[in-house]
Amino acid sequence: MCGIVGAISKNRNVLPILITGLKNLEYRGYDSSGVAYLKNNKINIVKTSGKIINLENKLNKSDESNIGIAHTRWATHGKANSINAHPHRVNHITLVHNGIIENYEELKEMLIDNNYSFKSSTDTEVATALLDYYYEKFNDIDKAISEFMKKVIGSYAITMIVDNDLDSLYVLKKESPLVIGISDNANVVASDIRAVLKYTNKYYILDDFEYAKVSSNEVIIKDIKGDILKKELHAINVEDNDISKNEYKHYMLKEIMEQKSTILKTVKPYIEKGIDSLLILPDLTKYKEISIIGCGTAYHAGLVAKYLFEEVTNTRCNVYLASEYRYQNSFLSKDTLTIFISQSGETADTISSLKLVKSKNCPTLGIINVENSTISLLVDKCLYTKAGVEIAVASTKAYTAQVALLSILALSHGLRNKTIKEDDVLKVIEEFNNIEKLITTLLNNKDMYLTIAKKLYKEEDIFYIGRGLDYYLSMEGALKLKEISYIHSESYAAGELKHGTISLIKKNTPVLASATNNKLNAKTISNLKEVMARGASVYLITNTNYKDNTFTIVNIPKSSDFLKALLVIIPYQLIAYYTALLKGTDIDKPKNLAKSVTVE
Ligand code: GLU
Repeated sequence: MCGIVGAISKNRNVLPILITGLKNLEYRGYDSSGVAYLKNNKINIVKTSGKIINLENKLNKSDESNIGIAHTRWATHGKANSINAHPHRVNHITLVHNGIIENYEELKEMLIDNNYSFKSSTDTEVATALLDYYYEKFNDIDKAISEFMKKVIGSYAITMIVDNDLDSLYVLKKESPLVIGISDNANVVASDIRAVLKYTNKYYILDDFEYAKVSSNEVIIKDIKGDILKKELHAINVEDNDISKNEYKHYMLKEIMEQKSTILKTVKPYIEKGIDSLLILPDLTKYKEISIIGCGTAYHAGLVAKYLFEEVTNTRCNVYLASEYRYQNSFLSKDTLTIFISQSGETADTISSLKLVKSKNCPTLGIINVENSTISLLVDKCLYTKAGVEIAVASTKAYTAQVALLSILALSHGLRNKTIKEDDVLKVIEEFNNIEKLITTLLNNKDMYLTIAKKLYKEEDIFYIGRGLDYYLSMEGALKLKEISYIHSESYAAGELKHGTISLIKKNTPVLASATNNKLNAKTISNLKEVMARGASVYLITNTNYKDNTFTIVNIPKSSDFLKALLVIIPYQLIAYYTALLKGTDIDKPKNLAKSVTVE
């Protein structure tokens, strides 16, 4: 959500760094973009709505500059037009911002009383004016930043240029992500280091209420009091963070295909030496209960874990949506371990829920894909998924990596609390060792998915149903389809249909289901028969030998409970992908969505 890039160099033109950086951040979602750079000793701003190509077309190709800031905006306050696009400039201050200034209305009134006027309807222009107001008042940028941080309520990652100091970028942070990359050639600021990996892999992470002065040969980081801080310099592995699309038409397809290796890569450290390596994982037997918190797909991964913890290891597990959890009575206790799941590690609602749990000194664990991200640094312990960079907005390989890691965690818990016999644990380990083969078989079943997609892509409403674990998987299946194809698709507990939803079934309404649990399959199949009797077209993913030529059946391999979610979800992902492909939607960057949701 939103992308910031800033760059400063003694002798090189930074405009290509800004534009490639923005392009690399496109996956986060945006609706307008802009740059500001020094041209003939004056700040030149170019901004426009729509795609980055529009910005490139508007830029003077021969322009060069040693300092600049750039932004892709995901509008929160004010329409996605070029006036509201960033950078914003007020007197001495030019800046780009990610986040939301929650008290902007009150600040705006104060600034209007002090003769400021506004061109845009954004909260960001208010932030720009406020920084200018304090800068005018104190004639000191450090004091201005410190006052700003004290006064503003909300979230911000800001990169700015101050007129009287054109040899530096100033960077401020609270809640929204921002890193400072350093190299001999140029120092760069970005929402995500991977956006500027071509230029450097070494970077500093700013914590909340910290700010930095970044010049071409120096980075000075300070706290809100203005005291200089000594920060750790991080380095990211360039190979693991490859963001090329290779031969694939879409990142989403590439990422779906990568699951043949990412699942095993994620769990390998915990299974490679059999039972012994499982015991590396945190001991959960000291907790009475487990809570899991996430948003969207991560929430769905949490539900799979709930199934395993409760049904297999007999341990109570509640799963919460982060956006709800942070505002409800959370009944926190030291006996409950709270697990936070996030691909990016920057999901705003999940971070806030984590801060809440931490404020009560209760134990926390993270399941995170991006190293050194905010959540990974805040939790007591972080387990990393090894999905690699996920660019497509609709999550696929990050979801399966989360599910795999949580499954292995549940397996080690079952071993420790003796709800699973050692022999059975070894069988599950064996299955995971074999997962590449199983996933490859499912990935290769393209004709089947395409046949189903042909039936779905012109539909307006599609239903997904299931019971138990299969219900949780139907949620993720429906989410994938609606995210990328824009077809209204909802998931329901199969037994709930007759309590309301079945009224929506009409001739040819597609109903998709999975049935992978011997105790529940017959019931799900009865529910499918009920919708068929009312005209529905039925598609079933199953690991049983069930045969019925009135259904379209997708067969998946038999497995223990620990692998079922991973095997069911591949057909669901590919059905969604091919449906969207036939519809012709923007699969990797669906409208209105952002990859990493860094605002509330
Ligand atoms: N709240 C700001 C705006 O609407 C920043 C949005 C963003 O993070 O892109 O302009």
